[in-house]
Amino acid sequence: MHESIRLGIVRGITVGVHWSVLAIAALLTWGLAGGYLPAAAPGYRAGAYWLVAGAAVVVFFASLLGHELGHSLMALRRGVRVDRITLWLFGGVAQLRGDPPDPRAEFEIAAAGPGVSLVAAAAGGIAAGLVGAVGGPDLAVAGLAWLALVNVVLAGFNLVPAAPLDGGRLLHALVWHTTHDRMRATRVATTAGRGFGTACIAVGIIGVAGGALAGAWLVLVGWFVLTAAGAEAAQAVLVESLAGVRVRDVMTTIPITVRADAAVSVVLEETFLRHHCSAFPVVDGGGWVVGLLTLRQVREVAAAERAHRTAAQVAHPVERVTCVGPDEPLVRVLGDSAPDGAAGGRMLVLDHDHLVGIVSPNDVHRAIRDAVA
Ligand SMILES: [Zn+2]
Repeated sequence: MHESIRLGIVRGITVGVHWSVLAIAALLTWGLAGGYLPAAAPGYRAGAYWLVAGAAVVVFFASLLGHELGHSLMALRRGVRVDRITLWLFGGVAQLRGDPPDPRAEFEIAAAGPGVSLVAAAAGGIAAGLVGAVGGPDLAVAGLAWLALVNVVLAGFNLVPAAPLDGGRLLHALVWHTTHDRMRATRVATTAGRGFGTACIAVGIIGVAGGALAGAWLVLVGWFVLTAAGAEAAQAVLVESLAGVRVRDVMTTIPITVRADAAVSVVLEETFLRHHCSAFPVVDGGGWVVGLLTLRQVREVAAAERAHRTAAQVAHPVERVTCVGPDEPLVRVLGDSAPDGAAGGRMLVLDHDHLVGIVSPNDVHRAIRDAVA
């Protein structure tokens, strides 16, 4: 989930909003101004309802952002990198790079988000109480009370013990802590996620059949939880089956290389057409890797130009290619392999800066097939 509108960068984390949030914001504002607020505080002009509704929704999204920042800042404190926070259709998502190192860290990271929501709820409730106590406008009291309510609902929903919700992470951390078995914890949390997702869909369908249109929303949420829990379970099976597999077990050892100063036309004739590979590492005169040349790049050079361009000029510079060590676990480097990146998911294997191999997506697929079989 990538943001459509970038709001800014906080502690290295890109914070953004996906366009689907605008639809939710419009729906919420409309529901508040047209239903909830006039019922809770009658007697105001329509413009006043829309103003308070708009302000409440903006503050609500700010508290949603606070929830995700809670997760993210705690993750940073526990040594887990965070790439981005994006607000979207189902609230917010903080994209962590890598897994928490231990159950305690996982528990704290998961708890921090709902914690922020509950603090926001308390703040809304106290503010509503204060405005009411000093005889302030009951429209403002209604708006603040709504903020308290939605933050309680948000925290409550997220605390349901089912992956991928925060409660699912808490459950995962607890099972992991008590059994010392991370896989088992994942099975428990994702099974709960599938059960909860299915239940949401069932209740939603019954609701829609009974005329409650909000049931459609529940179906959507249930479908999202069900899909995400399934994906997490599949990922866990992959991680388990690739346990112990290192980069050197799947790489192509001592790959054929291309000289940096060789003309592209020569490389095409003598290397690509002869060895039937779609990419070759490029090395300089001293044998150091300087890049990765793909067949696709060679094809993009006009035929007449190929004699005048060198491999190094056309290749992906080594800084832009994923480089891994031979003894790294395959599972860990897969996250860095960027299959849709420029190098097409290929990784160079370097041992103390010396090229020892290359890993292609095909190598990875073969390893997975062998591991699962
Ligand atoms: Zn959360």
